[in-house]
Amino acid sequence: MAASSGIAIAKVYRLEAPDLSYNKTEVNNPEQEVKRLHDALDISKQELEKIKDHTKKSLGDEHAEIFSAHLLVLSDPELIKPIEDKIKADNVNAEAALDETANMFIDMFKGMDNEYMRERAADIQDVTKRVMAHLLNVTFPDPALINEEVVIVADDLTPSDTAQLNKQFVKGFTTDIGGRTSHSAIMARSLEIPAVVGTKEITNKAEKDVMIIVDGIDGDVIIDPSSDEINKYEQKQQEFEKKKQEWAKLKDEATVTSEGEHVELAANIGTPEDVEGVLNNGGEGVGLYRTEFLYMGKNQLPTEDEQYEAYSSVLKQMGDKPVVVRTLDIGGDKELDYLDLPDEMNPFLGYRAIRLCLERDDIFRVQLRALLRASIHGNLKIMFPMIATLQEFREAKAILNEEKQNLIDEGKEVAEAFEVGMMVEIPATAVIARQFAKEVDFFSIGTNDLIQYTMAADRMNERVSYLYQPYNPAILNLINNVIEAAHAEGKWAGMCGEMAGDEIAIPILLGLGLDEFSMSATSILPARTQIKDLSKQELASFKSEILSMGTSEEVVQFVKEKTNQS
Ligand code: PEP
Ligand code: MG
Repeated sequence: MAASSGIAIAKVYRLEAPDLSYNKTEVNNPEQEVKRLHDALDISKQELEKIKDHTKKSLGDEHAEIFSAHLLVLSDPELIKPIEDKIKADNVNAEAALDETANMFIDMFKGMDNEYMRERAADIQDVTKRVMAHLLNVTFPDPALINEEVVIVADDLTPSDTAQLNKQFVKGFTTDIGGRTSHSAIMARSLEIPAVVGTKEITNKAEKDVMIIVDGIDGDVIIDPSSDEINKYEQKQQEFEKKKQEWAKLKDEATVTSEGEHVELAANIGTPEDVEGVLNNGGEGVGLYRTEFLYMGKNQLPTEDEQYEAYSSVLKQMGDKPVVVRTLDIGGDKELDYLDLPDEMNPFLGYRAIRLCLERDDIFRVQLRALLRASIHGNLKIMFPMIATLQEFREAKAILNEEKQNLIDEGKEVAEAFEVGMMVEIPATAVIARQFAKEVDFFSIGTNDLIQYTMAADRMNERVSYLYQPYNPAILNLINNVIEAAHAEGKWAGMCGEMAGDEIAIPILLGLGLDEFSMSATSILPARTQIKDLSKQELASFKSEILSMGTSEEVVQFVKEKTNQS
């Protein structure tokens, strides 16, 4: 599956969890084991210093903090001394002494009520893996330390792995698992790193250091290409660059259909740093700010002030352009280790997003206060994720209003009016969208989840990825229902799922009357170029025909014919 467009040609860098199994052995020279331990500790410290510096430069002080905590663990006599003692007292090798001592502390800290101590357990777990790798002399992969041009090959990349990739050296990536809407794919698009995901077998086939081509345009991966193939793809790369220059001409133009009707093209972002890409790609707004990245890649919840800074920064950079901020949507494939949530059988159907926020309103209120305080700096709209029932929307909105009143009572400034909407990503809400439309200011259709829930197909599971069917008439009818409901109540309907930037979907959605399309920043200019030549009126005349079709294939064929796409 092509996950992020562009072509990458470079050497394979395998990002894999190292095998840290060891044998416990008796030693007759414990002093030498203690020395081995200290050598491993020293190298680990040097590496962590480097990673910390790198993270500071690329992601800022806040994200680098976690490595300071790791460095402290490695220098902590309360951990190191008991390991040394164990080596000497039991005459065991450093590996066993490290593992057993660390596990004892991890179990002890994990069992504590204190959240700070539980975070220390996670730190110890992380750093002992690195030290163990050095004792065993196995490579411990560090994406942040890559300093030559590579293509990353991995089973999967977590969103925080992806956030650490340095674009200068990481030319592309390809994974066994994942789909177009997994969060690593979404982040690859905002970082503009070509990616192909869900290959099922790339880690079995691509060996370290061989050349590899990742074609993120058509979703192909070529291992050990011939020189002819390399030439061919270098040419494709140049053509892609040329196309990008063509698209760039529309950067400062409004998005209009052939009859001159305006639709809004907005961008999806994950961090304030992404705004630059939005503006460079001619975004007319931010249609989805995924705030969960503020909570990830660190070891504690972000404070109200930290969040206020991030939201204000986005709003200020966007000026009077609309910015739709989504409240915390954690869960599914986005985990927060420090919240220590229990493992679930079906995380995408579990305790996540608004469900968690309504129960943990201590966390939710901090975010809402930060958003309300930031509201004076731009054109803010707030939306709640994963709403399933009207009751949830009402409760979330009531908490928002309470915090607004609290801030006013404290003498803080809050914008007088701003829109409050919801994501439509659970079929239950799409079916009775009319009832919701009476109470919300807007809808944003989250097709990544709406499709997975409607088709009952996990968006992370490549075996069922054929069921990710944006053009399936079932999905199109739900979308139509949402747009009609919004318009009947005088509200607007947008879409922030990946479908909004898809060139087959765009003509359909235009015909259904979608008001706002929010997509990866890099899709905006191609979409604007496409829309310029589409007649909304003509597409609207196909609506009932498309909605009554039986299969995706029929829809695709029909759209291609009508819009002259090959
Ligand atoms: C969606 O579900 O379509 C969406 C935009 O949200 P996320 O991808 O963050 O779940
Ligand atoms: Mg979603």
